[in-house]
Amino acid sequence: MISIGSGAEADTQAHQRFSWFSQINSGKHFPALRIYVAILIAHAIEHTVQAFQIYVLDMPRTKAGGFIGYLLPAVNKDEVLHWTYAVLMIVGLILLRPGFKGRSRKWWTIALGIQIWHFAEHTFLLAQYWSGMHFLGRPVPTSVVQAFFPRVELHLIYNMAVMLPILAALSLHWFGPAAAGSQGDCDCRSHFR
Ligand SMILES: [Zn+2]
Repeated sequence: MISIGSGAEADTQAHQRFSWFSQINSGKHFPALRIYVAILIAHAIEHTVQAFQIYVLDMPRTKAGGFIGYLLPAVNKDEVLHWTYAVLMIVGLILLRPGFKGRSRKWWTIALGIQIWHFAEHTFLLAQYWSGMHFLGRPVPTSVVQAFFPRVELHLIYNMAVMLPILAALSLHWFGPAAAGSQGDCDCRSHFR
């Protein structure tokens, strides 16, 4: 049943939403970042395993889908899954950004900019996957930069390009020298003392 809340209820809801958002950028910034980094590392491992399968194990490219792709081959071709991951990464970058200050904020914003491009590419891939019309008439969905680089290498590079500024932001935010100034008002640093 849908109930229409009174003005006071709406105010409380707005306040709860606000406090939830401010919490993940203050007291809960560290646990939220930890979850974000865990997902990021798991995904990076998958892409590394995929490159290992191709270059070291000599697996055909269509079969090399990381650990998960090995166990569930359908996942490899599922553009929705790739797209969902790209969305998750952007949402995390946007939601956790206010917790960063100073230079760590600048690096985090650079990561967001690169991830927005990576996301645009995956949206383009998803549109091709659903429409069946492929860019440049290729047999599989093809992104813009993929016209110049093969997909596995390209996405390995994209993920690195997003991960490096994230690591720069986190190292400043968590371990940056006092001389670099405040890197946030959260209690992240206290976890490393
Ligand atoms: Zn923090």
